[in-house]
Amino acid sequence: MNRRSKRKMKKICLVIFILILIIVSLLFVYKMVIKNPSDSPKEPAIDNVVDDSKDNTSPLVTSLKKEEYFIEKNLDRYLNYIQKYPDKSMTEVVSSVNANIDYDYYTHSIDTDINVGYLMLVNKFYKLSSDYVPDLVQMDDQYNHNKGYKMMNRTAYEHFKEMAAAAREDGITLFNVSAYRSYATQEILYNNYASRDGKEAADTYSARAGYSEHQTGLASDINTSSSSAHFENTKEYAWLQKNAYKYGFILRFPKDKEKITGYKYEPWHYRYVGVEAATYIYEHDITLEEYYAYFVENK
Ligand SMILES: [Zn+2]
Repeated sequence: MNRRSKRKMKKICLVIFILILIIVSLLFVYKMVIKNPSDSPKEPAIDNVVDDSKDNTSPLVTSLKKEEYFIEKNLDRYLNYIQKYPDKSMTEVVSSVNANIDYDYYTHSIDTDINVGYLMLVNKFYKLSSDYVPDLVQMDDQYNHNKGYKMMNRTAYEHFKEMAAAAREDGITLFNVSAYRSYATQEILYNNYASRDGKEAADTYSARAGYSEHQTGLASDINTSSSSAHFENTKEYAWLQKNAYKYGFILRFPKDKEKITGYKYEPWHYRYVGVEAATYIYEHDITLEEYYAYFVENK
């Protein structure tokens, strides 16, 4: 090989080398800039959590669906609630959303379905119209110690009498102090409390007109309606705790369910829901809100 062709050869080698260098660089850039972002696992942004979990096979949806009171139509609301309160258990999420606690009180009013009779729900989300008056009867004085609110729903009263008679056999006296209250009465009561303690405080213990269970005629405040009476420490309360469900009555605002019912503990307030529902609610330690969402509204 002469000198000239040697030089030519060197040039060719150099060109090939540069070409290889360019190709390798291009491959490297391609891998780093184009391929990597989609390959690398990226922490999903919070916004994406919900979108991803809407996939019915996601672990979140799978564990929600295992919940006893899971309701399909509430799925999006469960997922939004989890985003807001990531520390809550799945059971809490399902029961809270089923009870509408993901909405603010009095901001999401639904008309009470009066066609379900003694299973009807009235609370801070379900309201009765101002002209709703149930089928009422007057309670006999032996079951009633109040001149004002002694009207009760006919069916509920029949069961109230049975319960009071059974209690009497055990040496327990039960009587009503407040059963049916009309829309107008409730309006006066609530307004009085609100002007005395302020609306915010009044809302924790008194219902606004239309939102009171007393308007159904299915509820009774038994023996007292005052927390200062400490009814929870009496033998009458203990008897009711053990036996009320057998006559279709439930303790409507239990101590540990204040968030679900929206009311402070009221050991004296009982609600007739029929023996079947009362037994289920008693045995499963749930509220009427949870029972209604799953077994009445969901059907
Ligand atoms: Zn009451």
